[in-house]
Amino acid sequence: MLAHRTTLFKSSGTAAARVAAKAAAASGRDIIDLTAGEVWSDLAPSVRDGAIAAINRNLNRYTDTVGLLELRQALASKISAETAQPWSVDEIAVTSGAKQALFNAAMALLTPGDEVLIPAPYWSTFPAQVGIAGGTPVFIETRNSNYVPRLMDLAAAVTSKTKAIVVNTPNNPTGTIYDRGTLAGIAQLAIDQDLWIIFDECYGAFAHDPHTHQSIVSVAPGARDRTLIVNSFSKSLALTGWRIGYLAGPAPVISAVKALQSHTTSNPNVIAQHALLHFLERGDPAFQLQLRRQVTKARVLGLSILSALSLVPPPAAQGGFYFYLDLTELLRCTNRPGRKFTADDVVNLLMDAAVATVSGTAFGDPAGVRLSYGVDLELLDRGLRLLTAALNAWTRTIDCKAPAIEEG
Ligand code: PLP
Repeated sequence: MLAHRTTLFKSSGTAAARVAAKAAAASGRDIIDLTAGEVWSDLAPSVRDGAIAAINRNLNRYTDTVGLLELRQALASKISAETAQPWSVDEIAVTSGAKQALFNAAMALLTPGDEVLIPAPYWSTFPAQVGIAGGTPVFIETRNSNYVPRLMDLAAAVTSKTKAIVVNTPNNPTGTIYDRGTLAGIAQLAIDQDLWIIFDECYGAFAHDPHTHQSIVSVAPGARDRTLIVNSFSKSLALTGWRIGYLAGPAPVISAVKALQSHTTSNPNVIAQHALLHFLERGDPAFQLQLRRQVTKARVLGLSILSALSLVPPPAAQGGFYFYLDLTELLRCTNRPGRKFTADDVVNLLMDAAVATVSGTAFGDPAGVRLSYGVDLELLDRGLRLLTAALNAWTRTIDCKAPAIEEG
């Protein structure tokens, strides 16, 4: 009865994990929820002031479909500073979060049958949206290369149907940051093979020393005319509920996106647009510094607790606010004839220990678990100690030298 396309996607795995955590908490259990894709924080003062001022000015009308001109001007200045290249308003569309920017990009770029290269593990919305737009996701394994795609693997996956490559750095879920060499190599591949680059830098505000986040457009200016930059204020300002993101790219793409958006959501919420305009005009350095400090502190605390894990290597945690645990060795040891454990089993075991996490299967990886450290420090401390104790208690019962089932 439903359209065929409804078989191409299911509700996001991270949202499902969040719902499971909330359901367990609602049933009276004291669950520590490490599933969230957001940082716990108060509102940025500039955002709050901008929104209140907009309401007091009685603003209630549609804006330009792809956002207020002044907001696009302010975004053009921001992106120009970040990429060291000039950007103009006709190269920018304001969207209802980065998710809509990505959806617009998929709808504007893909003809049914087109293939899109997506490094795996991946944020599950990437392949879902490619599928909705009629394209085919092609996954590039990164588990054996520290969660960064190897250029030879990307190149080997290119076919006559390949239209685009998704580059998400800092990466959700793995927490890796692609270095300049990787970005330059991907850009050159895109130029050589005539591909679009969908550059999702939503976590760019959180790059952890000594790692730095670079825009692929500044690393490889020659790839600018084939790159769509996707970003939002959801993560960088802890503003997930306000739904303001943007897409920046060649004017003809933005023009197509504007037409598409005019038939879907029209403009993003006018009050939220004014709030972000106020932030961009006034700045809020103290808030941003405090947010980065909070995430850094949580990362340091978390890495120190997780270092007590046996059989699980320290997570990369180079950027963003996720620890992505590689369970390969732990699962290799625990698997026995007739009983093969996956990340889903580990997530269930952790839920029994009152810690909610997201299984790597939500990201196309049966051997990983994602933990958010964007939560309150005291909760993080308790949650990670419970997690470490539960996993270590499990592995203490295992003789790792016993014959294990190899992946096959
Ligand atoms: N891109 C990535 C990699 C994400 O992880 C997320 C949210 O989790 C988004 C985009 C969507 O962000 P927004 O809330 O701005 O739509």
